[in-house]
Amino acid sequence: MPQYKVAIVGAGPAGYFAAQALQNLQTDELKFSIDMIERLPTPWGLVRSGVAPDHPKIKTVAKVFEKIATSDGFSLYGNVELGTDISLEVLKTKYDAVVIATGSAVGRKLGIPGEDLPGSISAAEFVPWYNGHPDFAGHTPNLDCDTAVVIGAGNVAMDVARMLALEPSELDPTDTADHAIDALRNSSIRKVVISARRGPEHAAFTSPELRDLPKLEHTNVVMRASDIAAALERAGEEPEKEVRNNLEAMRLISELEQGKHARTMEFQFLSTPKEFRGNGKVEEVVFTTSAGEEKIVKCGLVITAIGYEAAALEGLPYERGKVLNQDGRVFENLYVVGWAKRGPSGVIGTNKSDAADVMSLLIADLKEPKPRIEFSSLITADKVISQSHWESINAAEVAAGEPHGKPRIKAVSREELLRLGGL
Ligand code: NAP
Repeated sequence: MPQYKVAIVGAGPAGYFAAQALQNLQTDELKFSIDMIERLPTPWGLVRSGVAPDHPKIKTVAKVFEKIATSDGFSLYGNVELGTDISLEVLKTKYDAVVIATGSAVGRKLGIPGEDLPGSISAAEFVPWYNGHPDFAGHTPNLDCDTAVVIGAGNVAMDVARMLALEPSELDPTDTADHAIDALRNSSIRKVVISARRGPEHAAFTSPELRDLPKLEHTNVVMRASDIAAALERAGEEPEKEVRNNLEAMRLISELEQGKHARTMEFQFLSTPKEFRGNGKVEEVVFTTSAGEEKIVKCGLVITAIGYEAAALEGLPYERGKVLNQDGRVFENLYVVGWAKRGPSGVIGTNKSDAADVMSLLIADLKEPKPRIEFSSLITADKVISQSHWESINAAEVAAGEPHGKPRIKAVSREELLRLGGL
């Protein structure tokens, strides 16, 4: 019976769903042995480092990942970095197929003056910071100001704005990193402006996220009724279902009673960022309105949440922030799935069908299986996290959270994670 070896690089949703697709496509005649390689000591990708901690339901998909990981023929190799501990060339030579599932983690830039001033950061830094990603734990976003501006009208912008605008005690029962809870507790920010360059009818927020906003218990959520009315008019009589649902959710927000709370999250539409200005740090954002006028918002923190690009890996072709590919095929025995393939769009579940389509192509391309190999003979890393090491880390984090009513308390340094793994 032929057994094919497939290496999946990246232990996020796209990687796990690719593994699941291969497992589901196995037959008596076709078996896969799957090696998943991850540069961090922890798997789950953005389910651990991206999803907002106050949205724990979205993270329950991790149970699916663990089922995939504990199925026959699956091995996790964490703390192993492609390009440093193992080369793409070695993977391509030794494995029957290699699947790149490394996502897109680099924040897009606006490309306007002042963007690099202190006080201006990308959601690509802020989100992993509050989620305890080891590479971002030492960041110190400026929360010592009254107003923050978040640029972008997508779900990431909304997550970021909500994390800044909610009452920090609401984070107590979450797995927000301790350093972020402490910083947010000391934050002086009381107003968060979330700014879209187009109108409400073009916002990329999704309606479940909009419908959650009125549930914030300690934050005024402000949307101007006139903005929504104008958007409804522009959208015409029969807007698409998503637009209709979004505008309905926004209309409800615009009718909320205002001014009850000390904290405010305010939506601003039809405002294109033109410049960040300040004396050695961000002090204001200058926007151009749809009427061509200049609008200035004073602030000490500005976070851009305008999409992501894939970080370039050596040996892979890139175009416009994605791995250059044809339906997931890159070149011989090399495939790409998830955000690295199609760009930063869709929800976690989108990766399931996407990965399944690519894995069908991979199977169609298979030739004679290559000889078996020992993973340890291919790498230079000495502290490799296996599934059982990860299970120890996971159990330790969950146990640490339990007395505090949290789903877990994350370890944030690589050293601590390795220690919890028993390495
Ligand atoms: P996104 O949904 O693509 O939104 C990006 C936003 O940035 C858009 O509003 C876009 O406006 C704006 N933008 C882009 N370039 C800009 C510029 N130069 N100046 C001003 N604004 C600019 O991206 P995302 O928020 O990063 O989310 C990525 C994906 O993850 C999405 O599919 C999202 O739904 C998903 N996600 C889901 C959840 C959830 O389900 N809870 C949470 C987080 C993320 P234009 O439309 O005008 O270009």
